[in-house]
Amino acid sequence: MAKTAIITGGSRGIGEAMSLKLGELGYNVVINYRSESSKALSDAIAEKVSKEYGVEALVVKADVSKYEDCEGLVKATVEKFGENIDVLINNAGITNNCNWIDITKEQYESVINTNLMSFLHMTHLVLPHMINHSDKANQCCIINTSSVGGLTGVINQADYCASKSGIIGLTRALALEFAGRGVRVNAIAPGMIMTDMLKGVNQDELNALASTIPQGFIGETADIAGAMEYLLKATYVTGQVISPNGGFVLQ
Ligand code: NAP
Repeated sequence: MAKTAIITGGSRGIGEAMSLKLGELGYNVVINYRSESSKALSDAIAEKVSKEYGVEALVVKADVSKYEDCEGLVKATVEKFGENIDVLINNAGITNNCNWIDITKEQYESVINTNLMSFLHMTHLVLPHMINHSDKANQCCIINTSSVGGLTGVINQADYCASKSGIIGLTRALALEFAGRGVRVNAIAPGMIMTDMLKGVNQDELNALASTIPQGFIGETADIAGAMEYLLKATYVTGQVISPNGGFVLQ
């Protein structure tokens, strides 16, 4: 029987590539999104994984910054696929680009609630559905999307960097707490990846950004889905942060 994977923010960008990769790897996939405009995108991903890979997919609208929505997401998963959940990919995220004087409390709370609180909510709600069946031979896996912003600092993104550093702390602590119970917890800290997060940036600015990356180009969503695949298969790796970033944090 196929294993079950939930991905938050699975509708676009990195999440879309990860959703497709989960299907390719044979998981039944629960694709979460938040915006009404992303329903059709999520449905299209679900249809594609079903047709191409023969797995089942469930699309669930939920604002994962809210605990009650996370409860609904897990409940819908259990109703469709049963009590056992094998993989959780915490990927939903947003960013502000605002200096720390002008930013509002609502703006930074929104980033912390979406990028960090949702990861706390989802791990809290999903882990009971992992430890009920996980062991050394049947490992469950949590992968959290952090960012190079959580490893370094980024000007005008203090809230984002705080959330992404927090994710790394959460990852290491949960990895230790659940290592003996068959659950591995790791993080991916992408560098610059071509998604809607960069849609406001014009070509000249993109070229300038690319020139700051030692490898000389901006990454693709497939680079992050590939890192996810590695972590899903790496049975002796836990508590680690893997950072596909073109050499960005080496400078
Ligand atoms: P994106 O294209 O803007 O997609 C963001 C995804 O998160 C969408 O699926 C969106 O759903 C979902 N989302 C946002 N808020 C949500 C909420 N409250 N509840 C549920 N879903 C929510 O972003 P991306 O570039 O793929 O980023 C994905 C992750 O990678 C984020 O955690 C981001 O911080 C991280 N990251 C990205 C980069 C980069 O350069 N792109 C670099 C480092 C880290 P809707 O479609 O419904 O809006």
